[in-house]
Amino acid sequence: MKTDKPDKAEAKGGAVADRRAARRVKETVIRGIAVSPGIAIGPVFDTTEPPAEAPRRSIAETAVDAEKQRLAAAVAASRKQVAKLKMRLGVLPEEAQEELEPLLDAYAMMLGDSRLIRGARKRIESGLLAAETAVADEADAIADVILAAKDDDKAGLRRRAGEVREIARRLTRNLTQNPFRSFKDVPEGAILVAEEVTPADAALLDPARIAGVATEEGGADGHTAIMLRALGIPAVLGVHGLTEAARRGDQMVLDGAAGTIALHPTAATLAWAKDQVGVYARERTKLAKLRRLPSITTDGEEVELLANMEIPAELPLIAQAGAQGIGLLRTEFLFMNREDLPDEDAQVAAYAPIVEAMAGDPITIRVLDWGGEKEMEALAAGVPSQTSANPALGLRGIRMLLKRPELLEAQFAAILRVAGRAPEGAVRVLLPMVTIPAEVKAAREVYDRVARRLRRRGEKLPEKLPELGAMIETPGAALAADAIALEADFFAIGTNDLAMYTLAVDRGDAEVAHLYDPLHPAVLRLMQFATEAALRLRMPVSVCGEMGGNPRLVPLLLGLGIRCLSMNASAIPRVKQAVRSLDIGDCARFARRVMEQSDPARIRELVDGFATGVTERG
Ligand code: PEP
Ligand code: MG
Repeated sequence: MKTDKPDKAEAKGGAVADRRAARRVKETVIRGIAVSPGIAIGPVFDTTEPPAEAPRRSIAETAVDAEKQRLAAAVAASRKQVAKLKMRLGVLPEEAQEELEPLLDAYAMMLGDSRLIRGARKRIESGLLAAETAVADEADAIADVILAAKDDDKAGLRRRAGEVREIARRLTRNLTQNPFRSFKDVPEGAILVAEEVTPADAALLDPARIAGVATEEGGADGHTAIMLRALGIPAVLGVHGLTEAARRGDQMVLDGAAGTIALHPTAATLAWAKDQVGVYARERTKLAKLRRLPSITTDGEEVELLANMEIPAELPLIAQAGAQGIGLLRTEFLFMNREDLPDEDAQVAAYAPIVEAMAGDPITIRVLDWGGEKEMEALAAGVPSQTSANPALGLRGIRMLLKRPELLEAQFAAILRVAGRAPEGAVRVLLPMVTIPAEVKAAREVYDRVARRLRRRGEKLPEKLPELGAMIETPGAALAADAIALEADFFAIGTNDLAMYTLAVDRGDAEVAHLYDPLHPAVLRLMQFATEAALRLRMPVSVCGEMGGNPRLVPLLLGLGIRCLSMNASAIPRVKQAVRSLDIGDCARFARRVMEQSDPARIRELVDGFATGVTERG
C-alpha cells in the first residue's frame, strides 16, 4: 500500500515544472481564430483557476454511492479535458510541446488510479464527505507529505505539491460547476485568458478594464465572439494550448485582427504592437468622419445601416457609430447572470431607456432566443433546461417560447408597453428560430391576445400594433420563406445560424471553425431564395448576421437585393465606406457571377477580388 511517497505522476509533473522554471522564456506565438480586431498588450489574467474553494460539506450515509458517482463523473470530465489539451499540443511550437506533453501525461496519470482519486473515494466512504471536500482534503494530505519530504530542493517540492493541487482544483471545478464567474478581480489592462468565455461571462466584461480576451474554445461567429466584438474588446478565440502555455502575469501581445497571441513578446514585437495601437486610433478618427455622411451608393441608392445590440452598455457606441437605428436587439442579456426571471415590469424598465435613447429611430426587439449554445447552466434559473442530446436542434427560440407562453406573454406585453411610448412604427418585434409558418401564426395569436389584455387594462399601445417579423436562420425557414412571408411582416436573415444549420457546423466550436463558411454556395442560395421571396411581396428584409457587418461582403449583399444591414455598431463606418463606393448595377452583375459558382474557394476569390477593387476605387 502506498503511504507517504508521492505518486510517480506527481513527481513527474514536478520535474517538468522544474525544467520549465530553469529555462529562459522565449517568445511563443500561437495562432487562433481572429474574432475581434485590435491590439492588446498586457499581463495574462488566467481565469481557469476556480473562483473559490468549495464550502466544506458532509453527506448522509445513504448518499455515499451517489457522491462516488459524482466524483467518477468529475474525474472522467477532467480526463477528457486533459486529453483534449494533449490532442491540441500538436499546433504549439516544438519547445512548448516538449514542456507540456509530459506535464499533461502526469496529469492524466493523476486522474487514473492515483492516490489522489483512491484517497478521495475513501474519504467519501469513511468520512462521509462531499466529493469536493474529499478531493481537497486528500490533495492537502498529499501536498503535506510532499512538502515534508527530505529533499534540499524545496522549490521543487513546492511545485510538485502545486501540481497535485492543480489537479484537485480541476476536479473541484468540474464538481461544483460554479455558476457565475466574477471578473471583478481582473486587474486593469490585463488580458483575460480562459478555456472558455460564455456569452453570459462576456456580458460581465468591462471594456474599460480588460485589454483583451484569449480563449481555447470558441468560433468566429459564436455569441461570445459577437459580444466581444460588440464591446470592442480585442479577442482571439480557439487558441489551442493557450491555458497550458500562459501563466498568470505573463506578458502577452494579442492581435485580434490576425488572430494571434504572443507570449513573452520580444522587444521588437512589443514595439510593433505599440505602433499598431496608434494605427488603430488613427483609423478610428478617420472613420468617425463618416458618421454624418449618408449611406448611399454612387448611383443614389439608400442602404439602411442599423446596429445589433447585445447589452445596454453598447448604446453610446451605437450613437457614435452613426447607426440609423437598432436592427436587432438581442434580449438574452436580460436573462443572463441571474437566478430569477425578469417579469413584465422589469423588462419594461430595461427596454424603455433603450427605446428613449434611440429617439424615434427604428428599433427591432427580438424576443428571447434561448437554447442552443446560448443555453448555459450559468444563465437563468426558471427557463426550461435542455434535455435534448442536440440542444441546437431542440427547444430553442420561438419553440421554447411557444411551449412556455407565459414567458412570451410577459415579453410581448413589455415590448408593447414600451412601443406605446415611442413614435408610431418605431418599434418592431422579431421572432427567433422560426422554421414553420405556424410558429409565426401561433406567436401572433399570443401577441394579439396580450395587446387586447393590455388595452383592457388601460395601457397606452400604438394604434397599429408593431410589425411582427421572423428570423430566417435555418435552411427550412429559408426554403419555406415564401410561405413564412404570408404570416410575417418582415424578415431578418440571420446568417450566423443559417450557416451553422446549413453546413452542420457548430458556430462556436473551434474544432470545426475551418468548415464554418457563410460564403458556401448553399448558404448564399438560401439567402437569395429568402430575399427574393420577400422582395416579391415588397416585404422588408434585412441581414442581421455577422455577414452584414463585413465590408467585403457588401457588394454581394446589395447585389442580391438587400438594402438593410444590421451589424455590430463598430462595423458601421467601414460598411458605410463600402456602400458609398459602390454602384448597384455593378453589385447586381457581381452577385449574378457569384451565384453561378459552386466552389466556395472560387466565391471567396471573387469576393476578395471585388473588395480589392472597391479599395482601389475608394
Ligand atoms: C443569426 O443567427 O445570424 C443571428 C443574427 O442571431 P444570433 O446570432 O443571435 O443567433
Ligand atoms: Mg440566430
